[in-house]
Amino acid sequence: MTIAANLLSIRQSLPEHVRIVAVSKTQPVVALQEAYEAGQRAFGENRVQELVAKHRVLPADTEWHFIGHLQRNKVRMLAPFVSLIHSIDSLALLEEVDREARRCGRVIDCLLQFHIATEETKFGLNLAEAGRLLNTYANSGMPNTRITGVMGMASFSEDTTLVRSEFRNLHSIFRELKSSFFSGVDAFKVLSMGMSGDYPIAVEEGSNLVRIGTALFGSRSYS
Ligand SMILES: *Cc1c(COP(=O)(O)O)cnc(C)c1O
Repeated sequence: MTIAANLLSIRQSLPEHVRIVAVSKTQPVVALQEAYEAGQRAFGENRVQELVAKHRVLPADTEWHFIGHLQRNKVRMLAPFVSLIHSIDSLALLEEVDREARRCGRVIDCLLQFHIATEETKFGLNLAEAGRLLNTYANSGMPNTRITGVMGMASFSEDTTLVRSEFRNLHSIFRELKSSFFSGVDAFKVLSMGMSGDYPIAVEEGSNLVRIGTALFGSRSYS
């Protein structure tokens, strides 16, 4: 299967309101170009240098999403052009994004990343931490960031009941934050969940942004 054919079949399996982020980490630029020609515009990367390098060669209307753990000292490299940061996991990081966005005269959209999986290793907030972060955010004025929703990764597991319950949990977190902190805020609407192995379940549980790598590009080659 070609990338274009994969993209088409994934697209056709999704409801129209669900957007795809093509997760292109480790993939060569030609693979991104092939997806771009097939109509894909949003690409997700988890390493800052790699994202910046690919941004230089893809067309200007490509949308760049950062989906990995983000170090504060690397925010400056992304700030001029990044479309959406999926992985805000601390107030300090959000403050840094706000500061760098201001230097660029931009408002940068951000998602709060939640830890919803059973695995210890995954980054992210819990609901109490997010509540504290959002209380500070609401009172401190960070006009150059806009929180537009939440992101999470389910357990890497064959147990679909477990995976489904984790996605359901993230959806309920989304609703809770919406009513406590963003009621009437139209921009707070993104539920980023679902990857190659679990996106159909994520969409059934309310995802409207799926992050798909291997199902689109094939397996990754780490060098
Ligand atoms: C790599 C990655 C994906 C995509 O994973 P696939 O299984 O290849 O679809 C999605 N989200 C995040 C945060 C990732 O790091």
